[in-house]
Amino acid sequence: MDPSLPRAQALAVKDGRIVEVGGDDEILWLREDGYELHDLGGRTVLPGFIDPHNHFSIAALDCFFVDCRDAHDISDIQGRMREAAAGVPASEWVRGFCYDHRALAERRHPTRHDLDAAVSDRPALLVHYSHHQAVANSRALAAAGITRQTPDPPGGEIARDRGGEPTGLLFERAMGIPEARSREGWESRFVEVARAASLRYARHGITAVQDAAVTPAMARRYAEARATGALAIHVGEMMVSPRGWFEAPDAAAPGETLKLFVDGGYRCALRYPRGGAMVTSGFLFYERAALAGRLVDAWRAGRRVTCHAIGNLGVETAVGAIEDALRAEPAGRARVRIDHAIFLTRALIARLADLGVWVVAQPSFLYDRGRHEVPGEILVRPFRSVAEAGIPQAFSSDFPCGSLDPLVGVYAAVTRRTRTGEVADGDQALSVQAALEAYTIDAARAAGLAGERGSLEPGKRADFLVLSGDPLECSDAALLDLRVVETWVGGERVTNAP
Ligand SMILES: [Zn+2]
Repeated sequence: MDPSLPRAQALAVKDGRIVEVGGDDEILWLREDGYELHDLGGRTVLPGFIDPHNHFSIAALDCFFVDCRDAHDISDIQGRMREAAAGVPASEWVRGFCYDHRALAERRHPTRHDLDAAVSDRPALLVHYSHHQAVANSRALAAAGITRQTPDPPGGEIARDRGGEPTGLLFERAMGIPEARSREGWESRFVEVARAASLRYARHGITAVQDAAVTPAMARRYAEARATGALAIHVGEMMVSPRGWFEAPDAAAPGETLKLFVDGGYRCALRYPRGGAMVTSGFLFYERAALAGRLVDAWRAGRRVTCHAIGNLGVETAVGAIEDALRAEPAGRARVRIDHAIFLTRALIARLADLGVWVVAQPSFLYDRGRHEVPGEILVRPFRSVAEAGIPQAFSSDFPCGSLDPLVGVYAAVTRRTRTGEVADGDQALSVQAALEAYTIDAARAAGLAGERGSLEPGKRADFLVLSGDPLECSDAALLDLRVVETWVGGERVTNAP
């Protein structure tokens, strides 16, 4: 990832940093007393993968929760929740994660009553794979103060039955309070699970991530984890509100980077033609002027801002707000980025190119979720059009919303193939080199880490991985067979040698 020396044979590391990169003879010449020589047997070394939009804290805490990823019907979910509840302290919420209503035999979301039948004596929350909707049991609704009288919050919806009673299903901002409450107690045990979670990431070659939704309470848990050396990889933080992921962080939030959700997730803000007119759907959390105001305030306070924007209307709102805010505060350009940008149009791509801010996209979603049928002029995950327009583009996983493995993301970006082998818009494929850059040096740039990370260059941190084969030499299909055999962070091997 260093254009002045794209390929080399060897590198020297000292005190956690790269001293030199070059040919074997050049590096061996640098040997000092007490050196160790690691012969990698001709395997390929890459800079450590960087995942600039990840939910490390959620993924780490998920090991306390009930995995419903592959549940096949509602009674299956009930059985898992019931069994888990038996082992959960009486004071804690029972939490399940990653159910997919389309994969359930019933083809519907579970209700509060379904969950009550499994867990009746305490609050339980079941989070959808999108992490933008969830089902609460009756005790969880009561604990969160959600009754038939509760109005839908702006940017959220409380699903109700024909009689007006909440069904338990909560969309977007309506899930904020129960979601935050459901893990408050569990967060106090973060340090117990942070080590294992960070090693899991390292086994995929990931050496640095940004956690894209950190509440102030969670930021204190991160501080504890760092103080005790529990994190084997670098984890940066993006701050959200104590009132939930989708609310704006307070001005007093700790940390440098703020996360603003411009639109919904599963119900992102789209605009498209129908019946001869343009219609809109989904949740838009900010109007352009309000978002511009928040950007200017954040920049003037020395902050960076990540704008979540998925639908074309969400991205258009973010782009318009950034354009307006830059007129008031031109130095903000390097302090804002747009994450996801899944549904674009040619016109939006042109505006993004003029704007010149980083876009952080998720090829893992393409692999996991497959093709989308979209109306009108909308392009879905047009990575190649974005790159060709000159828009700075990095990749990330959004794990646990998408697959964690960066090689899956690289494979999907290069082949446009989904988990089931279907090709989604093959003309939007990128080269292997471009996909690897998007997951290393460009990810480092998008995350503000490129001074220290993202390439193998003298002076940078010795964060790298060893691959079983050369991704630039193997066939595209074989990218999925490559294995990360070692990962090094700061010059220390954090995974076992093969
Ligand atoms: Zn995310």
